[in-house]
Amino acid sequence: MRNLRTFEDSLFSHELRWAYALSNAAADAKLIHDGKKEEFSVVAPRLYPGFEKVEAVSRMGVMNLMIPVGCNATCPDICYTDIVSWRRSPSHITFPELLSILNDFQSIGGKWIRIVGDGEPVLYKQLGQLCQWARECGINLLVFSNGVSMSRSILREYERGNLYFYIKLWSENAEVQNKMIAPRTPYHYIDGKLGPAPRAFYELYDINAERVGFEILVSSINLEDARQIVNGPKVEVPLFVEPFIAEGSGKGHYEFIAKSPVVTKQCEQPPRASYLGVINSRGELQPGTLVPEGAVSVKGSKLKETWNSIFTSSELFFKARYSAGCFCETMRNY
Ligand code: SF4
Repeated sequence: MRNLRTFEDSLFSHELRWAYALSNAAADAKLIHDGKKEEFSVVAPRLYPGFEKVEAVSRMGVMNLMIPVGCNATCPDICYTDIVSWRRSPSHITFPELLSILNDFQSIGGKWIRIVGDGEPVLYKQLGQLCQWARECGINLLVFSNGVSMSRSILREYERGNLYFYIKLWSENAEVQNKMIAPRTPYHYIDGKLGPAPRAFYELYDINAERVGFEILVSSINLEDARQIVNGPKVEVPLFVEPFIAEGSGKGHYEFIAKSPVVTKQCEQPPRASYLGVINSRGELQPGTLVPEGAVSVKGSKLKETWNSIFTSSELFFKARYSAGCFCETMRNY
């Protein structure tokens, strides 16, 4: 069994996750209203042991960011976004509105932004400006990219630092990858030092091998391919392995064993909602990654106040932070 390296551990450490989780729980304890007090007093000590002894400070360490941008692929079996009919809408967040939210994020302890959608982040016109903002604030940006193409300007940004990439790699066979991702222009594969991979990966790797890895999504379509990737030379770079679940994205801690991908690690992380906020492309704070149900607008730089109180005032957010069961446990039985 291999221990896979991810960027997650280095960009926002286990210790930091716990520090943020405990101080948020302590802050919630001060804000919780009567109706929820009883439930809180049962669940909070189990999920966040020792929170009563730490300073009460509301802090967000990591942001999952969705930016309004289309995609140069369609991923017919996998994409959760209705990407084929994606259109820009007046309700989408503007860049100045986004910057205002990000400044708020920084002021509540933000360390790291993961750009996860709506579409392909490298196509976002203001990505360069976003990188510059992040560099100036000392915040790291992690981009999940399909790697269909990588422009010169993005490569230059990468050279400057603070920018990390997971390139989607679902098969080492360009034909299979093309079929699964269905890009509007086909992938160019290179058989480089770590074996076959999209050219975009090697373009980044040649500039800096420490800030690029692969996102491997495991589904019934690519099970063998995924196993081959994690057992080969690509294990030298960070590998983020996610199982495909029709009704939700993967969030557990995954490793591969001989026959199939399973959850093998004991879950030692606090629930993600204790340190991670999800901002969608309409500038709303969401309780989870995929469905904007219960999302609250933070346009107009109200992120700080919203984050301070939302987990004690909204049922969906409360459930996300004070969940009855652990996601990893569910995955073990999946
Ligand atoms: S690359 Fe991402 S956004 Fe684009 S189609 Fe595939 S899953 Fe959807």
